[in-house]
Amino acid sequence: MAFLFSSLVDIILATRNKKKIEEIRRITQGLSFTVLSLADFPDCPEVVEDRDTFEGNAVKKATEIAKCTGKTALADDSGLEVEALGGAPGVYSARYAGASGDDGKNCEKLLSELRDVPDEKRGARFVCCMALARDDGSVHTFFGYARGKIGRELRGETGFGYDPVFFPEGQDRTFAQMSGQEKDGLSHRGEALEKLTEFLRGRPGL
Ligand code: IMP
Repeated sequence: MAFLFSSLVDIILATRNKKKIEEIRRITQGLSFTVLSLADFPDCPEVVEDRDTFEGNAVKKATEIAKCTGKTALADDSGLEVEALGGAPGVYSARYAGASGDDGKNCEKLLSELRDVPDEKRGARFVCCMALARDDGSVHTFFGYARGKIGRELRGETGFGYDPVFFPEGQDRTFAQMSGQEKDGLSHRGEALEKLTEFLRGRPGL
């Protein structure tokens, strides 16, 4: 992607999730803003994700970090909604199998819950809400979705979270069997960041 701004602007990524940071840095590579991680701001408090929507959590994380750092902050709240489970695990995706947030255990629990669900009822979607907040309190949100279905076993080694059990629509490989760039082109995070990039185009001062 071409450079969008005449000068570099720092955006603080309101997460400590290394895999998310890696994906967001990769997708925004080549844009003329630098994505700094929260690790560069050790004094900022951990934000509790206690809202019942992706948007609520993303806005809360971004606004609190913008306030704490005095800089523009970007937060991602995302998760998996499974049709046969009425939209669960949803905003609880990271903690589905317990507070430790273990990706392997979360996938195993999901496969076990869906053991008797037939192929045609295994539809699911990833949802991503990105919130961009300034320290003056203004916030903008951007959504992305990736539709697909849940497999019957773990497949692939790349990515994180539910990637090894999620087949994006029209694909016979899971997200975990794809390269990072391939996943970005199909993913909920890729779509939300594309919308964010569009928004930032022509706004050099954010
Ligand atoms: P949070 O946004 O930090 O609350 O956590 C989102 C959780 O949703 C992650 O821990 C994963 O379990 C899941 N998730 C979100 N995006 C992805 C993705 O791109 N691939 C696989 N799992 C994801």
